[in-house]
Amino acid sequence: MRQVVLCATMSFDAAEAGDPKRSAVRNWLVVLILLAAATLASFLLDPYVSIASQAMLYVLAVVVASYTLPWVPSLACALAAVSAFNFFFVPPRWTFEVENREHLIALFTMLALALVISHLGTALRRETEAARLNETRARQLQELATGLAGCTRPDEVLALGRQSLDQAFPGPAVLAGLTPVGDLDLAPEAAASLQDGMLCAMREAATLGPGTGRWPGLDAWYIPLGEKGQMMGAACIQNISAADHSGREHAQALCTLIAQALWRLKLTASMREAQEQSERHNVQSTFLAAISHDLRTPLAAIVGAASSLQTQRDKLGAAEQERLLGSIVSEANYLSRVTDNTLQLVRLDNAGGLHRDWEAMEEIVGAVLARIRQRDVARRIRSSVPPGLPLIKADPVLIAQLLENLLDNALKYSSGAIELVVSQDAREMRVAVQDRGPGIAAGEEAAIFEPYRRSDRSGQRGAGLGLAVCRAIAMAHGGTLSVSPREGGGSRFTLHLPIEAAQPAPEPS
Ligand code: ADP
Repeated sequence: MRQVVLCATMSFDAAEAGDPKRSAVRNWLVVLILLAAATLASFLLDPYVSIASQAMLYVLAVVVASYTLPWVPSLACALAAVSAFNFFFVPPRWTFEVENREHLIALFTMLALALVISHLGTALRRETEAARLNETRARQLQELATGLAGCTRPDEVLALGRQSLDQAFPGPAVLAGLTPVGDLDLAPEAAASLQDGMLCAMREAATLGPGTGRWPGLDAWYIPLGEKGQMMGAACIQNISAADHSGREHAQALCTLIAQALWRLKLTASMREAQEQSERHNVQSTFLAAISHDLRTPLAAIVGAASSLQTQRDKLGAAEQERLLGSIVSEANYLSRVTDNTLQLVRLDNAGGLHRDWEAMEEIVGAVLARIRQRDVARRIRSSVPPGLPLIKADPVLIAQLLENLLDNALKYSSGAIELVVSQDAREMRVAVQDRGPGIAAGEEAAIFEPYRRSDRSGQRGAGLGLAVCRAIAMAHGGTLSVSPREGGGSRFTLHLPIEAAQPAPEPS
């Protein structure tokens, strides 16, 4: 407690040292006024009261001085009060002499009383100041800690820290974090001395400046943000006093909180990065496992069928040969689709894999239908494309791939008619592929768009890549892909593509 009081006292005195000359003049003026008031009152009451009551008026002046003034003027007030009382009122009056022993004892008692009161009053005042200052600083620390807990970016932490230091000290305070390459992130116009001080504080991992015993010639405190091996930047607080030890401790406590918040954000960021890396690694492994399985199975079937045909063609009947050839064609088609989807996924992963141009949707749909007709032997697909559609900015190969996947799924998972319907409004173009199949089970609408996610109920062969590729293609075009149940059964997959307001000028015919 004594230490706290001492620290607060020093910091209070230091605060007063803000304009020492003016406050000294003010203090001595207060001493003069108090003594003059006590003397005047004693003269006015002279005819009516005893010398003891007049002594009490001087003691009152000493009490007031000790509660309001620093210890030097307060002590001087006590000594001057005893002298003035002796001079003006103790017989013989108007001299400093004391004629009888009783008065002398009274005078010494009064002097002792004045000194004790002065000391106690000054101590009490300092304790009160210390308690008030400590409370303010505890509140500042708590407010900063609460504010920092909600920060998600280093610049937010630094802004909050700067605000807190500016509130606590006359300042100004400068706070600088580190750039990704480890340099101090200071404005280019910052003074070289500021940068040197901050770098030095970081190198030594210790506070530098007045009252620290390190670099006392500096005109500000330079405080590192963090410890050795966990350095996050540095702070500089100007307009401080070497005697303000508790102020320095408070500044260091604030900087420790700021450094901890910066370190927490750094740890969170590296944890997130590690997690993302491990997720990427997992996805890559799953991808490789799935792809190798999806490629190996049809390849094995093709090799098996082809070698049977090659080695035993004479022994096989026409129907069996036809079956083997059919199997080779179907497995090769499957292989081709899986390869296409895999290549598109890789292409979408690479920045710049998209080749967008102004395209007409009717042309893309026409090309897709022409290609898919070979697989739609029963002619189940019907299309409806209104005339006069606006152009869209798209990669035609990818959009064709998306529509082909949706139509392939519709062929695979349904047996009735399939409709491809294009429509538009002012802002978007919609391409819906709708079938009368089993539809998507409730709760699986989002999952089927995840890579390698297949429905257990389907019983159909697939890699679970088609819809993931479709969604990635839609998103790469700034659009979306949604699925909804159809009235009367079946599902509707709808591609939504934005229509750009600025359309290209029509080419001269
Ligand atoms: P795959 O068809 O290779 O399994 P997809 O990503 O194309 O992979 O589809 C994921 C799942 O979504 C499928 O396993 C299937 O259960 C379901 N699905 C896709 N399209 C349809 C559809 N038209 N009707 C019913 N279910 C579908």
